Amino acid sequence: MSKRKPHAPLAEIPPDERRGRSQSGLPPLMGDIGFIGLGHMGTAMAANLASAGRSVIAYVRRADQLAQLETLGLRPTTDIGDLLDCEVVISMLPDDDAVREVVFGRGDDDLEGLAAGLMPGAIHLSMSTISTAAASLLAGEHARHGQGYVAAPVFGNPDAARARQLFILAAGAPADVVRCQPIFDSLGQRTFVVGADPQEANLVKLLGNMMSATALEMLGEAIAVVRKRGLDPQPFIDIMTSTMFGGRAHKIYGDKIVREAYAPGFVLPLVLKDVRLALAEAEKAGAPMPSVGVVRDRLITAIARGYGELDWTALGLIAAEEAGIFPVSPVAAG
Ligand code: NAD
Repeated sequence: MSKRKPHAPLAEIPPDERRGRSQSGLPPLMGDIGFIGLGHMGTAMAANLASAGRSVIAYVRRADQLAQLETLGLRPTTDIGDLLDCEVVISMLPDDDAVREVVFGRGDDDLEGLAAGLMPGAIHLSMSTISTAAASLLAGEHARHGQGYVAAPVFGNPDAARARQLFILAAGAPADVVRCQPIFDSLGQRTFVVGADPQEANLVKLLGNMMSATALEMLGEAIAVVRKRGLDPQPFIDIMTSTMFGGRAHKIYGDKIVREAYAPGFVLPLVLKDVRLALAEAEKAGAPMPSVGVVRDRLITAIARGYGELDWTALGLIAAEEAGIFPVSPVAAG
């Protein structure tokens, strides 16, 4: 399917800089940006890059997505080969398998992978939430081809992505991370450089998501008790978020659970994927996370009840149902 085609040369970037070895040291990545994974998060992020004036070539598998992506100022394509002359390709894909597929390619239908196809010196900027093992595997494969691999998973939901309010956790070779900074600046409010080993960013991201997931679970449980005891949950959440729990997770998700706002967002199967990955990291470290086990079971329950398309605020819905409280309005209402 995807065979490399002739592309416009990267004329404005001298060859040594295309390989990331400018005499000045660190040329920022200012040429075409490839983007793979145009979902809830990726579409908003790619559109922000385009509106910041960047040329973004967006790879999708389905031709029926092309017209809508064009309206966002992107250059959509169904041929991954169109991305292979980019000096940086961003991936924002669901899970380990999807990222592995775009890096290694698919032998069965001749889909060329990024590692074999990108030029030496190009950077794969991997922003998905994936396992540390996958990050190390992918970084090694790119290194084998003389390319950079920067892990940069994010905190923030699609609303935050649209508003360029993401928090970015970056890790990789310091020179490569610096070269990605203009991209980070167009996508988020702040970048934290976690370290030089890409997998470290993925570990931090997974643990942060578990802190959010357990906070959501606890918010759901407490709000269910408040409701069952006949109190209004809104003042309860206002007190909590004005006193001991003034952080972003409690504020954003407490309010949504009170409003029974379960529209995605961050759909439950992806949350369960992160929970599984985090539990595997915990097992590898020999450091148990029993409260994450509770969330895991709640997610399994929610998906079994047909709520797989809902946001992780639906942990509040499950807590309510377990307390015998059932929604009177459609649960997907935002
Ligand atoms: P999503 O399912 O909405 O988007 C993923 C996109 O990737 C889809 O459009 C899908 O068609 C595409 N895709 C899948 N496999 C592909 C392949 N092989 N080739 C090309 N495209 C492919 O997911 P999302 O919510 O945008 O999340 C993306 C990543 O960001 C996940 O790793 C998720 O855990 C993470 N994340 C999500 C949120 C959130 O609130 N949604 C927040 C932070 C991080």
